[in-house]
Amino acid sequence: MRAVVFEEFGKEARVQDVADPSPSRDGVVVRVEATGLCRSDWHGWMGHDPDITLPHVPGHELAGVVEAVGRDVVDRRPGDRVTVPFVCACGRCAACAAGAQQVCERQTQPGFTHWGSFAEYVALERADVNLVPVPHGMSFGTAAALGCRFATAFRAVVARGRVAPGEWVAVHGCGGAGLSAVMIAVACGARVVAVDVSPEALRLARTFGAAECVDASAHPEGVDAAVRELTGGGAQLSLDALGSPVTCAASVRSLRRQGRHVQVGLLPPAAGDPVVPMARVIALELELLGSHGMAAHAYPPMMDMVRSGSLRPDLLVTSTIGLDAAPAALAAMSAGPGPGAGVTVIEPTRRPHPDGA
Ligand SMILES: [Zn+2]
Ligand SMILES: [Zn+2]
Repeated sequence: MRAVVFEEFGKEARVQDVADPSPSRDGVVVRVEATGLCRSDWHGWMGHDPDITLPHVPGHELAGVVEAVGRDVVDRRPGDRVTVPFVCACGRCAACAAGAQQVCERQTQPGFTHWGSFAEYVALERADVNLVPVPHGMSFGTAAALGCRFATAFRAVVARGRVAPGEWVAVHGCGGAGLSAVMIAVACGARVVAVDVSPEALRLARTFGAAECVDASAHPEGVDAAVRELTGGGAQLSLDALGSPVTCAASVRSLRRQGRHVQVGLLPPAAGDPVVPMARVIALELELLGSHGMAAHAYPPMMDMVRSGSLRPDLLVTSTIGLDAAPAALAAMSAGPGPGAGVTVIEPTRRPHPDGA
């Protein structure tokens, strides 16, 4: 199969022919029809993730068709249209038994703990626990966006953040996860303040229903005062959807009394532990919450909202590229948020156009 492979961290990846994967006893091999390009892939490529061994194939936001099935798999058949959470659970540990597969003790993550989906095929473990059916009306590009950023944002806003109608929700960082959070919070009846440095990202946030937008580049002293002003004293719920010491602290400082901060963006150790204003956490009785993906069994309410049209993850996909363009798109994330606002989807089976487009 063809796959995007990197042999050194931070050195340009290349499309290579590598051996096709085969399914483990309880796993499947999926033919990848679409796979999202996410900042986590960039972190992996840069060497920020200790799980990755070289050479490596990135990619964890995938949707496709089951190609081969291990002999112990009960519920899945070749031809099934599927996606997966980026955290694939073991289904057997104490966390899994409690329904918290997103923090499984023996989780696997395609594109991190083993080769991922920037390839024509990807192997996935524990298929009966982790595969989520993709309805026929949903494109693979849309479904690919669900597994990481959209589902993560859904759990962060709804389950961890406990959003309620009429509340103010601040979203710091309007990349794929942040824009998803804006859309989900609006669908839940909240009023959203979107924060980013990119005018294009803020324009999309406005399109997805944000009531207020704050251009962080116009507030070098910090955006928290502007957010508190716009929300009449602070948001009830605030998310750091980027993952940086600056956005983490700004999110906490954006809250009113007894507000909830949810950390959604990953904070790789390389950037250092963020300084959290804990005096404010005590004085205002703030809650600090982490959110890590979403278990496969928790997808149905989100899928129902997609089916009814109240959530439109398809609108997040702003660019689609072939496998050959993936290495450059990955490298381009070093310079900033990526090729543009919204989500870029790679279609591994798409061949380059003869004129190079
Ligand atoms: Zn991701
Ligand atoms: Zn487990």
